[in-house]
Amino acid sequence: MPYLQSFRGYPTVLNLFRNNNFDLGNGTQAVFGEISRLNHACVPNAQGNFNASLGSFTIHAVRPIEADEEITLSYLVEHGALSASRQSRLTDHYGFLCDCPACDMGSERGRKGEERRTRMQARLHEHAEGVAKRELPDLVAELEVMLEMVQMYEAEGIAGRELATMCLAVAELAAKVGRRDQVLEFSEKALRIDSDSVGTDSNLFHESLARVQAIGTSV
Ligand SMILES: [Zn+2]
Repeated sequence: MPYLQSFRGYPTVLNLFRNNNFDLGNGTQAVFGEISRLNHACVPNAQGNFNASLGSFTIHAVRPIEADEEITLSYLVEHGALSASRQSRLTDHYGFLCDCPACDMGSERGRKGEERRTRMQARLHEHAEGVAKRELPDLVAELEVMLEMVQMYEAEGIAGRELATMCLAVAELAAKVGRRDQVLEFSEKALRIDSDSVGTDSNLFHESLARVQAIGTSV
């Protein structure tokens, strides 16, 4: 059985993380004159999303940006990937090799990040093997691995909607296993990151809010 299909639950979670910056929803892609000039970084300081309520593509900072710092977006769909996989996707789809700090294996920052991502990949494989052996899903094990992913993203400095979506998934899993403190912590965190990433006037934020409200009524 292919690896992803054997990983019960994870394909859905993985799909949730996908964050195609230039996807307008329902598969429509667009190119914007100004926004399309923003360069890629694997750990970007801003994020672009289509705001359906405004009918506009918006850019939000996902962390404080220095006055002379370049504003960057990520063209990737998965931010936890290893450098080789990121480079191959960027080369295939955009025709360039990334030389951002996360890709600089000559620096401690680049090497440390790669080690963190490698450990996380190994952990996901280990979890997938456990899932394949079990008759029933182990929600606590899934929650633990999700928490580790959140920690890895935070250690890497990856913010934005992908992290918000992970936090929402953590809150939903925590509700299922009765961890009320984590439900509160991660619901709040998801909404905070999401409002920074897409803006509270975005339909995407309202979708996250509805998910948090649904958790609230199920705990
Ligand atoms: Zn890079």
